[in-house]
Amino acid sequence: MTQKKDQTHGFTTSLLHHDRWRGSEHGAVHQPIHTSTQYAYRDVNDLVAVFQGRPGFSYARQGTPTTAALEHKLAQMEQGVLAITFATGMAALTAVFTTLLKSGDHIVASQYMFGNTNSLLGTLGRLGIEVTLVDATDVANVKAAVEPNTRMIFVETIGNPGTQIADLAGIGEFARKHGILYLVDSTLTSPYLLVARDVGASLVMHSLSKHIAGQAQALGGVVIDTGLFDWTGFENILPTYQGADSRQWGMTQIKKKGLRDMGATLAAEPAHRISVGAETLALRLDRACANALALATMLQAHDAVTHVAYPGLANHPQHERARELFGGRFGTLLSFTLDPKFDVMQFMNHLKIAVLATHVGDTRTLTLPAAHTIYHEMGAQMRAKMGIADNLIRVSVGIEDLDDLLGDYAQALAAMS
Ligand SMILES: *Cc1c(COP(=O)(O)O)cnc(C)c1O
Repeated sequence: MTQKKDQTHGFTTSLLHHDRWRGSEHGAVHQPIHTSTQYAYRDVNDLVAVFQGRPGFSYARQGTPTTAALEHKLAQMEQGVLAITFATGMAALTAVFTTLLKSGDHIVASQYMFGNTNSLLGTLGRLGIEVTLVDATDVANVKAAVEPNTRMIFVETIGNPGTQIADLAGIGEFARKHGILYLVDSTLTSPYLLVARDVGASLVMHSLSKHIAGQAQALGGVVIDTGLFDWTGFENILPTYQGADSRQWGMTQIKKKGLRDMGATLAAEPAHRISVGAETLALRLDRACANALALATMLQAHDAVTHVAYPGLANHPQHERARELFGGRFGTLLSFTLDPKFDVMQFMNHLKIAVLATHVGDTRTLTLPAAHTIYHEMGAQMRAKMGIADNLIRVSVGIEDLDDLLGDYAQALAAMS
């Protein structure tokens, strides 16, 4: 489905009326949940046409009207041309990496990366795809790592848990000039804070499980083609997927190889929940970003806290970049360290409102000791490279009433001192 930009309406208006304006059965304001696994045609020529590339449905592993409606909505949010949804964010990343790259290719990736993606790149390494990790906050480091066999540059918008902001626009310009595919994981920003096309991304990926679904009630992932990349110059597209419209080459290969063959399809029920959740993305993020800035400011001023990483603080190394790129909002993720004389676990056990749990982008504030949990498996050396101290506390800030949130951290700090 090729997608036109909705330039006439605002972000939330477009989301709220998307299904109805596209046309839904009986005027339903939501696209219905289609549970059918196969789709039949009266004229066998129509069935043949769908198998040969005409838009339509055949077997639900390759999508349903429910996932298609969500894909259309997500493509519009990113001002992209095509979107494909997956069962999880990791499934989307796996599909992109394994269908567009082959043994002997090279990726340059940011060293500030979600732990499971870092582990996935390790798997790619064992399959013969070479990976170089760099500090992508400076495009010069990316440039220096590029080899003749570099097929892709991969970055996350806001590093987790250190909140480093990659030189997103600088890398985009460099990648375009050299015809290198540029994949951006924008999970922590969402299309409300950043339209990845604006920084030159070729493909943008989201874990839909986070901000977009928003309430920790569905898993999903998506990859969106921004329309900027010229696929005719990309040597890994199989001849069978080189159709008349070269703008569709990359996504056709990702869909056929990554969704049809690998099968991590987003089911209709979570697709529906994600679609409904997305309607309030702007409201949730406005509140959660404001809460995060207030909490970061409060923590920074506290004697028991030695360091706070949050892009909204003036002392953050990429504070100005974040301000320019994210429209004056600075995200919902922050991390901080306590004075070493305090026990981190003891501190965390004093929290009453913040949930001791993994995950980010929930409506609830979630917090965990990063080195001991999500970054445990990668080992001390890689943690050091990523700047993850043993006493680092990660917070994904939610939409609680601000006084309650500040009060919770303040009372836990007071209990230590
Ligand atoms: C959570 C997350 C993923 C993986 O998404 P899942 O839906 O949990 O599989 C990928 N990248 C980032 C930045 C994430 O936060």
